[in-house]
Amino acid sequence: MFLRFYLFVALLVLTCQAVDAQRANPYGLSIINDVPAFLRTVELDSNKAFVEITDYAPTIALDIKYATTQNVFYTQLYKQPRAYVRLPVAKALAAVQTDLASKGVGLKVYDAYRPYSVTCQMFEMLPDTVYMGLPRQGSRHNRGVALDLTLIDLKTGNELRMPTPFDALVYASHPNFDRLPADVIRNRDLLKATMQAHGFTVDPVEWWHYNYKTNTTFELLDLSFDEIAKTLHRPATKQRSRRR
Ligand SMILES: [Zn+2]
Repeated sequence: MFLRFYLFVALLVLTCQAVDAQRANPYGLSIINDVPAFLRTVELDSNKAFVEITDYAPTIALDIKYATTQNVFYTQLYKQPRAYVRLPVAKALAAVQTDLASKGVGLKVYDAYRPYSVTCQMFEMLPDTVYMGLPRQGSRHNRGVALDLTLIDLKTGNELRMPTPFDALVYASHPNFDRLPADVIRNRDLLKATMQAHGFTVDPVEWWHYNYKTNTTFELLDLSFDEIAKTLHRPATKQRSRRR
């Protein structure tokens, strides 16, 4: 039984490596991995453009955990601390931030767009089928429509108390877990209610993970942050100020 499990994991690891080697997907997934192909999808639907979250909501804080070694893998997976999402997701986040600001709190983003090859790399390090994005499916982070985030006090920048740290693979991370202090439940539920009011749904096992609800199919991508940066769509005001 155990042998069969390890053989299964070994096979997954090998197929993940094959993704890089062949630039073709062994699970039959369709994944965009070059900039011109991505830009063709944006020409057909401008909502597929990538934007930098802070261009649309400058007061949203970033703490991109996978650009550091302070994460569940103890490994730096991104070269730069960037938070990219598709255009409608950034607009929805800006609306969440405005709502929260009236209560003196704001969002802090741990992770946004994640290249597909990083999802594979993560699964190689931690082959957990409950909490991890699966290489055979791809993650909504790979589509630019998922976020990991928490709440901060806007005055101090301190994180509000939540049930667990980010990426804690424990039962208390489930968003309905209720054996918690009242203030922790209040904070988690404020995040949930505000995100839901603007079109997001919370993951069933991670209080910090949100998916943007949409009828559009946003393709899986394996573009690096440098490649995404070349394609960025910026708000009109930023474009004007850059031209000056
Ligand atoms: Zn996530």
